[in-house]
Amino acid sequence: MLQINPNLSDLVTDAAAGLAGRLQPKATITAAAPGRVNLIGEHIDYCDGFVMPFAIDRYIVIAGCANGTTNARITSALSEEVVTLDLTQPQEISEPKWANYLRGVIRGFQDRGHHVPGFDAYILSSIPGGAGLSSSAALECATATFLEGLLDTVLDTKEKALLCQKAEHDFAHVPCGIMDQFASAFGKPNRLVLIDCQTGEPELVPFENPDLTVLISNTMVHHELSDGGYAARRKHTEDGLAILGKASWRDVTAADVQANWEKLGDPVNRRSRHVVGEISRTIAAAAALARNDFETLGPLMAASHDSLRDDFEVSCKELDIMVEIARKIGRNGGVIGTRMTGGGFGGSTVTLCESRKASEIAATLGAEYEKATGITPQIFASRPSQGAHLVG
Ligand code: ADP
Ligand code: MG
Repeated sequence: MLQINPNLSDLVTDAAAGLAGRLQPKATITAAAPGRVNLIGEHIDYCDGFVMPFAIDRYIVIAGCANGTTNARITSALSEEVVTLDLTQPQEISEPKWANYLRGVIRGFQDRGHHVPGFDAYILSSIPGGAGLSSSAALECATATFLEGLLDTVLDTKEKALLCQKAEHDFAHVPCGIMDQFASAFGKPNRLVLIDCQTGEPELVPFENPDLTVLISNTMVHHELSDGGYAARRKHTEDGLAILGKASWRDVTAADVQANWEKLGDPVNRRSRHVVGEISRTIAAAAALARNDFETLGPLMAASHDSLRDDFEVSCKELDIMVEIARKIGRNGGVIGTRMTGGGFGGSTVTLCESRKASEIAATLGAEYEKATGITPQIFASRPSQGAHLVG
């Protein structure tokens, strides 16, 4: 039941072969950018909160080369079509939608005064799309890194991540916070990317205990994310802050939310309770993890899930089922903590567990979830990995 993560070097070889099969015989520039999983701190990266993701060892790889023209020709293993972009023009939103992530990033380079020359590119991914693991941020960061190679320039990592976030805002209409692009850009092996979203500074926190395994369970369902659910939640948090009359969620206490419960009204009061609670849970979780205090960490992850389910209302039946199965396996069965991860409305759960029991836990999660839903989930382990980089 435990899936093997494809090797990055195999992906690179296959992407070069894909390019050769469709566009150009030889890849001279290859960029790779990982997806991410978030251990705790959900839906608070746009609320000045703390988040604790890491870059997973699943990647989007872009293999390509300059083509001597003023056009980009882009294709993906997921699509037969070759998309042609006229690089003499500022990029705008168009069809097909998947190419908008690339258009948005190219536009970011154009807006910085870069003259992007013609290129051919082939995209290959080992990140399941729409699974809450940020294949979109990986595609943006891989594109930005590919363009760095093409232009022989290096952006400041933070600037690169922000450029990619703007592409997601403007070209995919997802008003995301900074977590996904920061995790994909800043990720390092054996390090979590703890981000203070108020200052916008990432801190690389050691995560190298071989006795700990992070399981990702993709429920294989995806309900609504970009159809407004995410934007609606973000709006609720903005409304809550305005009603509370504060400049930042970091200045709001749980007592403030309680004292203004009626004034905030439903659902903004519950959304607000989630934000304040999740910020303090994430701070506590970072401290607990640093001292290997799993008896504290597990309940914090559980409270995070319950809050996302009941107060923020971004979970769904399938995520709750997966979490319940892991909860039933429990601490004695090797599960330290489990919760939904990412934007929600489907996607994946993250389960922190004891390495020696990981295979057994994955087998139970897979079998029980299939029994309950009729859906075969995808379950794999992941360790913190290298962020966006040029290969070779
Ligand atoms: P998530 O970021 O959680 O995976 P999103 O809905 O934000 O989910 O992003 C998924 C979208 O990213 C896909 O619908 C597609 O447009 C684009 N995408 C992801 N992987 C690829 C790929 N390998 N090739 C082309 N487009 C991709
Ligand atoms: Mg996304």
